[in-house]
Amino acid sequence: MNEKENEPKLWLDRHELQRIFDVLIDDGYEIVGPTVEQGAIIYDRISSADDLPKGIRDQQEPGKYRLEAAGDEYCFSFAVGPHSWKKYLTPPIMPLLRVKQKNSELEIEEVIQKPQKFAFLGVRGCELAAILIQDRLWLDPAHSDPVYRQRRESSLILAVNCTTPAATCFCSSMQTGPACRSGYDVALTELKAGFVIAVGTSSGAALVKRLPLRPATQAEMDEAKQSLAHAEAKITKQMPQVDEHSKLLKKLKHPHWQSVAERCLSCANCTMVCPTCFCHSVDDVSDLNNGDITRVRRWDSCFNLDFSHASGTPIRDTTASRYRQWLTHKLASWIDQFGSSGCVGCGRCITWCPVGIDLTQEVATLLEEPVDVGE
Ligand code: SF4
Ligand code: SF4
Repeated sequence: MNEKENEPKLWLDRHELQRIFDVLIDDGYEIVGPTVEQGAIIYDRISSADDLPKGIRDQQEPGKYRLEAAGDEYCFSFAVGPHSWKKYLTPPIMPLLRVKQKNSELEIEEVIQKPQKFAFLGVRGCELAAILIQDRLWLDPAHSDPVYRQRRESSLILAVNCTTPAATCFCSSMQTGPACRSGYDVALTELKAGFVIAVGTSSGAALVKRLPLRPATQAEMDEAKQSLAHAEAKITKQMPQVDEHSKLLKKLKHPHWQSVAERCLSCANCTMVCPTCFCHSVDDVSDLNNGDITRVRRWDSCFNLDFSHASGTPIRDTTASRYRQWLTHKLASWIDQFGSSGCVGCGRCITWCPVGIDLTQEVATLLEEPVDVGE
């Protein structure tokens, strides 16, 4: 349920959608939103309503993803694709410093990232929750990341309530969707003739003042509410209860980890597409032309053998131990670390797993046995 569900809303006619882009561009925002590339909905820089995936639907199942033409005017009638907003808040590859050789001296210079002012358009409820989870890591006063902080504080979030969840979504059982609950500046609900708009912050209020809006009618608000109720009813996949997750830590020797390992390719796709996974490594890369060295931070994964390298050897040297690390961290020890689950129920890891491993089913299997199985 949206916490602002009963507040008055505004209405934007569909043919005025471009005005949102015009105002954001006037204000110097780089707009990032959904668009189609290589047969998938991805997030990229866009500058016009024409860049949105108009009349496109997605079909998702474990290990399967397809787009199809619906032939209508809807611009947000799909669930999440392989990208998430972490791509812009914590870039996959980010140079940190350069070491240059000047005669016999070494000169070290910090790489200062250009300040970025993003407007994220089309953020879903589960993704708002994922951003709030990432905030706990990257904005922790003890070790806050300056690039994340600058981008996060400068960005504007234009969320879209999800009315077309995929078969892989389970946000309702994680209490993150399909409605946008918090963390947005404005939230849109798309209907045939236009958009019902809720304002979440003063920045959102400043934006909507410059748009050609009128108060939404009761009928429009009711239709928006109904389409969200319909979406919620469509979500049948569920994660077993959150308070069950700590039981996962009592299943560390369960034979089912080996059964998953016999299917898992340890390809790391699930961690790359996950909007909350944050593991990264730091490498020094040398330039063969001039001998300069650049230190870069890059996304990494607990599925990579090297990632658990300690004291000269990998400490998780089997696929079973790496999958167990990922799942128990995401669903159990994450709660001890950050006070919430590390999963928001977006379903990406299910869709983009090449062999269709579904974490909700693996958890259900692990929890169905007595607690001490394998101990
Ligand atoms: S673990 Fe899977 S379903 Fe959960 S947030 Fe990550 S990608 Fe989404
Ligand atoms: S669970 Fe699937 S996506 Fe994740 S590492 Fe294994 S095969 Fe790859």
